[in-house]
Amino acid sequence: MLFSTLGLCEPILKAISETGYSKPTPIQQKAIPFILKGDDVLAAAQTGTGKTAAFTLPLLENLQKNHKHTAHRGKPKRHIRALILTPTRELAAQVGENVEMYSKYLPYNSTIIFGGVNINRQINAIKQGVDILIATPGRLLDLVSQKVVDLSKVEILVLDEADRMLDMGFIHDIKKVVKLIPKNRQTLLFSATFSKEIKALAAGFQNSPSLVEVAAQNTTSERVAQVVHPVDKARKRELLYKLIDDGQWQQVLVFTRTKHGANRLCEYLEKQGIRSAAIHGNKSQGARTKALASFKEKKIRVLVATDIAARGIDIDMLPHVVNFELPNVPEDYVHRIGRTGRAGRAGEAVSLVCIDENDFLRSIERLTSQKIKKVVIDGFDLNPNIKAEPVKMGGNRGRRGGGQKNQSKSSSPKKSSDKEWNEEKKKPNSRNRNRNRSRNKNTSRER
Ligand code: AMP
Repeated sequence: MLFSTLGLCEPILKAISETGYSKPTPIQQKAIPFILKGDDVLAAAQTGTGKTAAFTLPLLENLQKNHKHTAHRGKPKRHIRALILTPTRELAAQVGENVEMYSKYLPYNSTIIFGGVNINRQINAIKQGVDILIATPGRLLDLVSQKVVDLSKVEILVLDEADRMLDMGFIHDIKKVVKLIPKNRQTLLFSATFSKEIKALAAGFQNSPSLVEVAAQNTTSERVAQVVHPVDKARKRELLYKLIDDGQWQQVLVFTRTKHGANRLCEYLEKQGIRSAAIHGNKSQGARTKALASFKEKKIRVLVATDIAARGIDIDMLPHVVNFELPNVPEDYVHRIGRTGRAGRAGEAVSLVCIDENDFLRSIERLTSQKIKKVVIDGFDLNPNIKAEPVKMGGNRGRRGGGQKNQSKSSSPKKSSDKEWNEEKKKPNSRNRNRNRSRNKNTSRER
């Protein structure tokens, strides 16, 4: 199938041809026709499948089809006609770049708004007139309450990575936003999975949505070669350095479980002469944007990230993803390794697993219905005298890594000593939902 057969207008096709894409990805082939028909769409697609273009291209086409030329003092009169909600700043920025790219030959203005940066510039941008707004929920509501943003003329609403928005406790903000948008809108909901919560969200906001799914839930891409290197915890960083150095890896995304862990690893790699940067919730937006740009430009070889900070990171041809520590939420493993092997290219996902993490590994293998190959690297044999200990999740209090069966009991955040863990990870259990609800009162939680 070619893009030209989908029914997109010439200016959009021209912008696509400049990206060099030769044909639509499966999610694009399936979702675009429904969206062009005007249907509400509920799509299960993970990052890396081409999902952003799957909603952006038909969104632009629909805006174009329904365009009414109105003018004010000779200038086209603009109002927000499409709203794309994302869970994180990084994803908002990335979607914004995509919208700019695909709308290059169309007469639309788009702007991005998210928390953690100066609001005045965003206010000015909106006052210039915007057709397409890409926003995180907290800052958006802030601007609505200041009467800067008017959502009463929105025709198309997109909820991108809706599952993450729920995980991060945005449900109430989303509901408030939806109430401000006319009922006869088109609503597109994209999520990595079709969970019960997502279906409930869709039922509340969508009108008989068409369902589109491209990959089975929680499957990992066949293009990503996965391997586990068993290693003692204390020797993980040494092994990581060896892998990067021996393999001459030039661009590696490394996941750690905590912010401090990310910083420490980054310092170690720098000392070994490997240019590295860390991104996590404690870094300013400026520092995160700069680190990501340097990584994309290959000025640094290693980007060390926590799960939340890495959400939405879109790097072309990222060949290596390393789990320096396994996530205790098995779905996060699928998200993490989905950063490589994108858009048809091969990738490698390496996990450095110490004895404490064996339960996490078993949960991941259960979830993805596969056994991951284990390879002990020469010189890194496990010390048989080391016994498994509970995995620490940030604060001082240890917690046993119990995979799925133990999670509700022992891995859920409890006290303020777990602050770092709480900030980095919002799990969709009821305790967190309550916790997040109280956090919804301020906007600083967007990261
Ligand atoms: P996404 O799932 O939106 O994060 O996109 C993943 C990557 O696929 C991005 O780098 C896109 O630029 C790229 N991409 C999107 N559509 C296509 C396509 N039709 N052909 C090749 N690459 C694509």
